[in-house]
Amino acid sequence: MNRHRHDHSHLLSRITSSATDQQLNTVPAQPPNDSTEQRENGTTPFDGFREECGVFGIFGHPEAANLAYLGLYGLQHRGQESAGMCSSDGEKLHCRKNMGLVAEVFTKAVLKELPGRMAIGHTRYSTAGQSALLDAQPFFVECSKGQIAVAHNGNLTNAIHVRHELEMAGSIFQGTGDTEVIVHLMARSRERRLKHALRESLLRMEGAYSLALLAKDRLIVARDPHGFRPLAFGKLIYEGHDVYVFASETCAFDLIGAVYVDDVQPGEMIVADSEGLHRERFAPQRKSCHCVFEHVYFSRPDSIVFGRSVQESRELLGRQLARESGVEADVIVPVPDSGVSAAIGYAAESGIPYRMGLIRNHYVGRTFIEPKQSIRDFGVKLKLNPVRQLIEGKRVVLVDDSLVRGTTSRKIVRMMRQAGAREIHMRISCPPTISPCYYGVDTPDKGELIAGNQTLEGIRKFTEADSLAYLSMEGLKDAVQDDGGDYCYSCYTGDYPTDLVGIETLLGGHRERD
Ligand code: SF4
Repeated sequence: MNRHRHDHSHLLSRITSSATDQQLNTVPAQPPNDSTEQRENGTTPFDGFREECGVFGIFGHPEAANLAYLGLYGLQHRGQESAGMCSSDGEKLHCRKNMGLVAEVFTKAVLKELPGRMAIGHTRYSTAGQSALLDAQPFFVECSKGQIAVAHNGNLTNAIHVRHELEMAGSIFQGTGDTEVIVHLMARSRERRLKHALRESLLRMEGAYSLALLAKDRLIVARDPHGFRPLAFGKLIYEGHDVYVFASETCAFDLIGAVYVDDVQPGEMIVADSEGLHRERFAPQRKSCHCVFEHVYFSRPDSIVFGRSVQESRELLGRQLARESGVEADVIVPVPDSGVSAAIGYAAESGIPYRMGLIRNHYVGRTFIEPKQSIRDFGVKLKLNPVRQLIEGKRVVLVDDSLVRGTTSRKIVRMMRQAGAREIHMRISCPPTISPCYYGVDTPDKGELIAGNQTLEGIRKFTEADSLAYLSMEGLKDAVQDDGGDYCYSCYTGDYPTDLVGIETLLGGHRERD
């Protein structure tokens, strides 16, 4: 989701947007979870990665919006700053979106304003501030193809380039997100059928997208030809009829009683309309590049992602890590929550007991008041607290799923020592992250990634751990059983599988944000 400022005032509009009446602000804007203030004053609890979006779509259920609400609730971990939904009653679209969590944005009253048997929804991580709501999704327009709404997960790596061309030709953009580029391309397409216009637009785009599009009488989903980001297809039966559902992760299906059928395949478009479901390939086959980070870090362990159980992958990551870098120790402690599954695998493989030696406060996120008298490592202490009884005098293996800037890890190591740990051995269940992601994961610049700039020993010293080891690339490939070379590993290798047009501008966007 690129976010760049452009002066559009001199340009002509080619899309009639009904943003003001359709994209109603339904609740007062809330401060985002991990607010700008927190980032600026250095109290951000974690220096991790952020997934940028979760996408959901449903076709053929009289309570489409209510089920989409539940689906989005299941996808909340993929984006916590804004949530949005559009439904269709067969005549027109109804859209509501706002800053905040799904349950905050979609009150009962708001859900009542979303009638119809089909809906799409979106959860998003974004920058705070005025532009954030304009970039919130679904993105709704009224154009030559009628009313359409689009929600998408991923980053279009040539969006800056295409956007510039469109602006020069007179398009006016409402926000700064790349989803809008797809919509403008569709509006300009000479193709009369919606799916053909979408295909034409998507074929101009490079990069990652898992996308849901709603028109008044149909739902269309599509996935980029590399298949970077996940998009699962499921089904439930309502009064003897098939109801089709689509979601970034299958955990969204479980909540509504839908079953996972398949993935939307890379380069595939699925149209759900009154005649049923039509699947077709819209783009030539390209090398598969499923984001391995979904299995390492982002997706919920109860999801099936790229046709594979995330829990199973994470346990295997932990087992492999134990085989590669076992150490004499008394206890295995995960950094919760994301290190839990790998730590279970590590403990099972090593035979060393697993203990929840760090407790996470799940209610951190909204505003909190930092005491005037400065408390060392306040941000991390807010979120994590060691259990002295479990670690005092012990040799601890601390398992985490990533190490980004290293600052959080150092704070955790210090906390563990203060709680009496005798030795602390950090184990990371993936290889060193040396390069940013351009396919939909918000990553710090290379200069801020500690593994992009330091040796293993340099990182160990920085984190103050007694030893440090990462999983090897081979170990990662084994754990996700990537026999066919189907995954993307670019943030571990620095080699990118697509052209990165306008990459400097993208990098600038990252700098702006971080
Ligand atoms: Fe995933 Fe890393 Fe590839 Fe981005 S660069 S898609 S985070 S594996």
